[in-house]
Amino acid sequence: MNTSSNHSPDGRPAPVALLFGAPGSGKGTHADKLCRQFQLVHISTGDLFRVNLNHHTDLGRLAQIYLDSGELVPDEVTIAMLRGRLLELEPDEAIILDGFPRTLPQAAALDELMKESGRRISAVLYLNVSDAEIVSRLADRLICRACHRPANRAFRPPKVTGICDTCGAELHHRTDDNPAAVKTRLKSYHAQTKPLIQHYQNREILHEINGEIGPEGVNAAANAILAKDFARIPQIAAPQPANR
Ligand code: AMP
Repeated sequence: MNTSSNHSPDGRPAPVALLFGAPGSGKGTHADKLCRQFQLVHISTGDLFRVNLNHHTDLGRLAQIYLDSGELVPDEVTIAMLRGRLLELEPDEAIILDGFPRTLPQAAALDELMKESGRRISAVLYLNVSDAEIVSRLADRLICRACHRPANRAFRPPKVTGICDTCGAELHHRTDDNPAAVKTRLKSYHAQTKPLIQHYQNREILHEINGEIGPEGVNAAANAILAKDFARIPQIAAPQPANR
């Protein structure tokens, strides 16, 4: 880990935000939006596994069986992969973590990784979405093969069928968005991941956001929470009409 300087320019350890919620609760979508509003590095453990899968690495081969069935990848594998990604960053880069931690041992390992890299967990954003809504969202979710942005056949259809509105690449239905895998993913969310709510509530860093109020409302709530601790990306002012 690059620990040559382990503090951000304001002298405090660099902040890390956690996006927490069930599969399909909007973590990826909102991480992406927040990265365009704040200076954040987006780390999604699901995306890291899928990159390894697509590149046929040993890690990808190992993870495939878990991803296909909707089970969680074993903690030691997931933690080692995240540690490797953190090693690549500069110590002052702020991070938004999407999909990690998902178990109590991962939360304990994250605390160690935070110490090791001179960072601190600043806020946990919990996107609360009902199971019924999750099942209905995932049944029709489409993901872009190139930029990974989601669309939805029912609620947010792409302008051109099968094509990503943002980058023009092909959209696909994730193999683990099939009903059997979604059932398994929700089961492990309730059994292994939900206990983290109490864990972070006890530390007074959990912020619950109703994930069913629409994307603008969710983004506004998340944005207001991160504004306390994270640097905004300066907005470029619209050009002014020239004086005559
Ligand atoms: P996601 O893209 O976040 O829905 O993750 C897709 C799949 O990757 C999950 O169903 C798990 O199989 C695996 N995965 C992602 N993050 C983790 C994690 N923190 N711990 C264990 N498995 C994970």
